[in-house]
Amino acid sequence: MEKAYWNKAEETLERSALRKLQLKRLRQTIDWALRTPFYKARLRKSGISSSRDIKHLDDLKAIPFTTKDDLRECYPYGLLSVGLKDVVRVHTSSGTTGTPTVIYHTKEDIFRWTDLVARCIVATGAGKKDIFQNMMSYGMFTGGLGLHYGAERVGMTVIPIGSGNTRRQIQLMHDFKTTIAHITPSYMLHLYSKLAEAGFAVSDLSLKKAYLGAEPYSENTRKKIEELFGVDAYNSYGLSEMNGPGVSFECVYKRGMHVWEDAYIIEVIDPRTLEETPAEQEGEIVFTTLTRSATPLLRYRTRDLAFIYEGGCKCGRTHRKISRITGRTDDMLIINGVNVYPSQVEEVIMRIPQVGTNYQIYLEKEGSLDKLVVKVEIYSKMFKGDLRELDALQERMREDLCASIIINPEIELHEPGSLPVFEGKAKRVVDTRQKL
Ligand code: AMP
Ligand code: ZN
Repeated sequence: MEKAYWNKAEETLERSALRKLQLKRLRQTIDWALRTPFYKARLRKSGISSSRDIKHLDDLKAIPFTTKDDLRECYPYGLLSVGLKDVVRVHTSSGTTGTPTVIYHTKEDIFRWTDLVARCIVATGAGKKDIFQNMMSYGMFTGGLGLHYGAERVGMTVIPIGSGNTRRQIQLMHDFKTTIAHITPSYMLHLYSKLAEAGFAVSDLSLKKAYLGAEPYSENTRKKIEELFGVDAYNSYGLSEMNGPGVSFECVYKRGMHVWEDAYIIEVIDPRTLEETPAEQEGEIVFTTLTRSATPLLRYRTRDLAFIYEGGCKCGRTHRKISRITGRTDDMLIINGVNVYPSQVEEVIMRIPQVGTNYQIYLEKEGSLDKLVVKVEIYSKMFKGDLRELDALQERMREDLCASIIINPEIELHEPGSLPVFEGKAKRVVDTRQKL
């Protein structure tokens, strides 16, 4: 049996000691935040000019929320609280039109983040003997590098393959006797559908666990993956603004994800009234970082909906758990794990002169993967009836969109007036993907 905790003292800290630690770290975070032009102005407005003004954890509630728009307005350096010479890593969010949101990390920030990921891994019963195939993308996206560092810290054997190239994934999984896959749930299902084609059966693999995250999925999808592959699947939730993965993860009991409350203060609010929701009631998750010096964030509104389970966990960890993410309060779509806003699609296609006035975004399942179809009305007068011209236009749109949203869409061209017209708010997105 592998070690049950990565750091028992930290993970089982008594609640009152945990709250004390939170207050200490919140004060430290306020000092970091006050070094940024953005928070300096904002905190002063709330009457906070030093960490000494924070006497209780509840004082946090006097601070206004931070939003994604705030982060964009701070681009590129408005939220940086240390000298650039101390920054060792930059990540940006996916799914933004134009200005991305940037998160900076110092060496110590990366160390602390990695430690949180290590806790998550050990909480699933994994350890040094495991062979970890990291099928999340590396790069600005935090999923790949986040788990990579954590897995190395734990001492697992890491296969840093990244996403895509299904045949090779399966081959390596077989050859290296991979025991843990880190992957999006949709890609995991896709992988299953390609197993036989690659010449393998599940019984040829050595998989024991799957870490599934980066996109919403249902309990039934988890069950399906567990049955198909004969594995234990664990839910992993994080977001780039809170480092990425390692914010919350399921332990072996798989009932809710522990949020590391010595690194994040979690609040759940009603997105309309902005008031805290009653215990165990769903609302929007709001996080405050407690241990990130280079980019402290206070009361960041995630737009993700979930609730907090009150009470302890059989595993002995005292950090509370959140439910599966049930939805979002904005229109962000998650397509095969990649965040896409409908406005990004609109921005790209409306740049093309032959495009008419109406378009629709269709999302459907193709096997287990998501498929994006963009239906566009075009000005037929601009064409001389040459099919090659239409093909070229379709190809240009596909390429432009692919470059912008990192998803390869199918483009359908339509005659003017043929797509549905809406008198009120246009329904631009038709999402037929059903949660299993
Ligand atoms: P990013 O900042 O690009 O890493 O995207 C983070 C977003 O992905 C979150 O705000 C969630 O909306 C979504 N997400 C990540 N992990 C999960 C998960 N396990 N379940 C549902 N949604 C998730
Ligand atoms: Zn637990």
